[in-house]
Amino acid sequence: MNVLVINCGSSSLKFQLINSDTEAVLAKGLCERIGIDGKLTYQPEGGEKTTEDKAMPTHTEAIQFVIDALTDNERGVVASLDEIGAVGHRVVHGGEKFATSTIITEEVFKAIEECNDLAPLHNPANLIGIEACQKLMPGTPMVAVFDTAFHQTMPDKAFMYGLPYEYYEKYKVRRYGFHGTSHSFVSKRTAEIIGKSYEDTKTVVCHLGNGASICAVLNGKSVDTSMGLTPLEGLVMGTRSGDIDPAILEFIAKKEDMDITALMNMLNKKSGVQGVSGLSSDFRDLTAGAEAGNKRAQIAIDVFAYRVAKYVGSYAAAMNGVDAIAFTAGIGENVCLVREKVCEYLGYLGIKLDKEANATRGEEIEISTVDSKVKVYVVPTNEELAIARETVALV
Ligand code: AMP
Repeated sequence: MNVLVINCGSSSLKFQLINSDTEAVLAKGLCERIGIDGKLTYQPEGGEKTTEDKAMPTHTEAIQFVIDALTDNERGVVASLDEIGAVGHRVVHGGEKFATSTIITEEVFKAIEECNDLAPLHNPANLIGIEACQKLMPGTPMVAVFDTAFHQTMPDKAFMYGLPYEYYEKYKVRRYGFHGTSHSFVSKRTAEIIGKSYEDTKTVVCHLGNGASICAVLNGKSVDTSMGLTPLEGLVMGTRSGDIDPAILEFIAKKEDMDITALMNMLNKKSGVQGVSGLSSDFRDLTAGAEAGNKRAQIAIDVFAYRVAKYVGSYAAAMNGVDAIAFTAGIGENVCLVREKVCEYLGYLGIKLDKEANATRGEEIEISTVDSKVKVYVVPTNEELAIARETVALV
């Protein structure tokens, strides 16, 4: 079956058409600047990547252009819409309502809408994408795959904040966690690689991208993760602060005369390794900067790696041990220096890094030595394929 995977943002839409039997990506692309002017990037398997300006006042036009490209006589990859068996939609927040992926019905749509205030930037955009697809592809089954669902197995000791309980009861303020599709995909693959049953493996997954989170996966279930009610908590990220003393907010607000909107913007967009380095949120720039002697770039990398190592250590404690650690996403897959620095802190777990293997980028590889007590891997994530698999399993 061919599955169209849609990841819809407020002004952009990423898509892939995946053949679920071969798991080949038949075509992929991106609609950008929806509601502004509109740009479509499209690439069929083995074909040339094209970019063209297309007026996209709403997501409906954007999805129409995607369908037109996929079914085009020349560059298309299917003869008609009938050859698309299902659509898998990435949905950011499923709150406590969704512990698994689900077929989208009217009821499900409403339940996702009810989670909107937990992810006001993302969920409404995801729903717009679903509505637009439903309009243009009536009768094609649609599945929602949630970033939060995998973490719904966390015990209350891991998801409750030390806040008055009434905020949990009234507003569902708790840890939800994100990147669930990736943590699930990578932890399953890690168990396969080490040749253990998923239901009997302790893995720490380090999803280190521009947004970054760590997950403790015990016997196939997420038991703790570093992002919280929102993706702001946890690791120091590209531009997000991660964990800070909450009282800093009042302190800075008074000093800089900032309101809550300005503070949240600072924490989400101007902090992280970007804020510390003042140079860039991108590790390509940071490592080049550090090599050239930029002190703040060096500090930013050190702060990033130290925080990752502290979370790995705490999750090894939470699971009373760890069989394997997996690095994934843009930084986890490509930045050997970060992996090396993190592993240096983990010698007490019996981890020994194979420096030669660790010099590899972007491919699945074991980076620990044969006598390392805990296995360490780079496992490239593939959220689109994970969404396609979930979708096929449900339809
Ligand atoms: P992601 O959010 O998973 O797409 O990761 C994006 C981040 O990964 C970028 O901001 C960079 O910091 C990092 N990254 C991606 N590719 C590379 C690379 N080839 N070398 C170094 N860092 C990379």
